[in-house]
Amino acid sequence: MAIQQEDADKREARLLKKKAVVDGRIAAATEERGVTILLTGNGKGKSSSAFGTMARALGHGHKAAVIQFIKGRKETGEQLFFSEHPQVSFSVMGHGFTWETRDPELEQKAAEQAWQLAREKLSDPSIHFVLLDEITYMYKYGYLEVNDLVEALANRPAHQNVMMTGRTAPRALLDSVDTHSKIADEKHAFKAGVKAQVGIEW
Ligand code: ATP
Ligand code: MG
Repeated sequence: MAIQQEDADKREARLLKKKAVVDGRIAAATEERGVTILLTGNGKGKSSSAFGTMARALGHGHKAAVIQFIKGRKETGEQLFFSEHPQVSFSVMGHGFTWETRDPELEQKAAEQAWQLAREKLSDPSIHFVLLDEITYMYKYGYLEVNDLVEALANRPAHQNVMMTGRTAPRALLDSVDTHSKIADEKHAFKAGVKAQVGIEW
């Protein structure tokens, strides 16, 4: 019984110590501004996390803009759902860039058009949340210049939040963002032979 009490006291002391650390961090985080968030890695969950965060922003009445830099074979659930939302402007990059057909000239043109739109959104103070989905591929394939993005992020309206996704990202972007999470591919159903499914994969 005495040993159990001692364990409980130690646990209580440990929790109090932890709480003091967390309270200290909360007190120290006083800066109010929008943030830039980058999600990379080979694991599943980058775009879906970004769209989940967008739903969170929309729930608070924020205005959002999405630009998808890769056009999939099928219309995605996120496009069908969010493009109906009155507070969302949803754009999918033109016909140039898809996983199935590769035409460098068309891809270049489509990438530039999508970037022009992204640049507009990144300078629009009425938009609280900007999602640049799969944008990092544009730098991997050399269609866009990463310094243009870094500059646009630095000059965006102070309250604007931006999320970006893609498997890998250039150093300049990694260095510039406020938050970067890398999702690891520990396991994926597809590798065990499970077919990609609607509502989960797209
Ligand atoms: P999601 O949109 O599901 O969050 P993602 O954005 O992290 O995925 P992408 O690299 O954009 O991943 O790939 C998009 C598609 O590939 C989705 O259909 C996703 O389910 C699937 N996918 C993602 N990661 C893996 C993986 N490690 N193995 C197999 N398929 C994957
Ligand atoms: Mg994705």
